[in-house]
Amino acid sequence: MSRKPAQLIGENRLIQLIQDRYQDRNPLIKKGIGDDAAVIRPRHAREYWLITTDMLLENIDFRREWITPNRLGYKSLSVNLSDLAAMGARPRFFTVSLALPPGISERWILDFYDGLTELGNLKGALLIGGDFSRSESGISISIMALGESLNRKVLYRSGGKAGNLLYVTGFLGQSAAGLKLLEKGSRNPQSRPQQAAIRVHQKPEPRCEAGLWLAQSGLVSCMMDLSDGLSVDLPRMCAASDVGAEIYAANLPVFPESSFWGCDPVNLALHGGEDFELLFAAPNSKAGMLEKAYPKQFPQITHIGELTRDVGVVSIIRPGRKRSRLLEQGYDHFRRKKPVGNGD
Ligand SMILES: [Mg+2]
Repeated sequence: MSRKPAQLIGENRLIQLIQDRYQDRNPLIKKGIGDDAAVIRPRHAREYWLITTDMLLENIDFRREWITPNRLGYKSLSVNLSDLAAMGARPRFFTVSLALPPGISERWILDFYDGLTELGNLKGALLIGGDFSRSESGISISIMALGESLNRKVLYRSGGKAGNLLYVTGFLGQSAAGLKLLEKGSRNPQSRPQQAAIRVHQKPEPRCEAGLWLAQSGLVSCMMDLSDGLSVDLPRMCAASDVGAEIYAANLPVFPESSFWGCDPVNLALHGGEDFELLFAAPNSKAGMLEKAYPKQFPQITHIGELTRDVGVVSIIRPGRKRSRLLEQGYDHFRRKKPVGNGD
């Protein structure tokens, strides 16, 4: 066992360590540690219940001066509901625990809960409890969300097969482009693309309806959400499915306007993080049907690559260049110096 500090071990290794030592095998647990949410089937229950939790810390995950309490509340629940969406579950309930430093007003707290419940009401998730404590440093937010399956159809990270086509919902890199603006001190920009990027960063929309539809369709083999960046999350899907992957850079649904403020849109799409879009794979034979049947009113889906036999190898094909390894440059909660506001 390593005596290294957690910072040097890395998030993936730490999860693996806990999983290997403490994971329970029990027939009530359909999926324990190691996916976007845990999946359980209580005795006599017709459906599965899904449980996920996420923590947001001031000055690690957000800065109080950069985000309104309303948007912070919305985002805090959104990152949790995104993990339920990643498995195709319907959001049902959530609890919120807050540790607050001195000086936080009642107004701030109620604005925060307004943001939380605004999203909860939109997605059908009810606030059912929580806890308060005092903090001697910044604000700490911990949410647990519960979801329910529909017809016991849930999607795991582990169902992918070599030859499956890879897709993502929406656009990638927009949230990271918004974060770059905030870091530059641009809080209330006039330009529309800049406003949109900041909005996506502060008020991400969990893809609950798309996730549910994809799980019900029977056309998808595996799914997860993108929280730490494609270059970090895709290898997690590959590890769970025991496959490799290749990405076509030219197909990535980037946010091109970010180049106006000095960003590289492809780079942000690969490594930016906090997209909270869905990454999923479909067998080649079902991909055509999937693209046809996928509802037009949902966020667009884009074919960005495929799963390969090359276990553990994730590569990228850039126009006019040879295939190269895609290096993990997204966010690891322990390893890297934190770009504030990044990660789940
Ligand atoms: Mg996730």
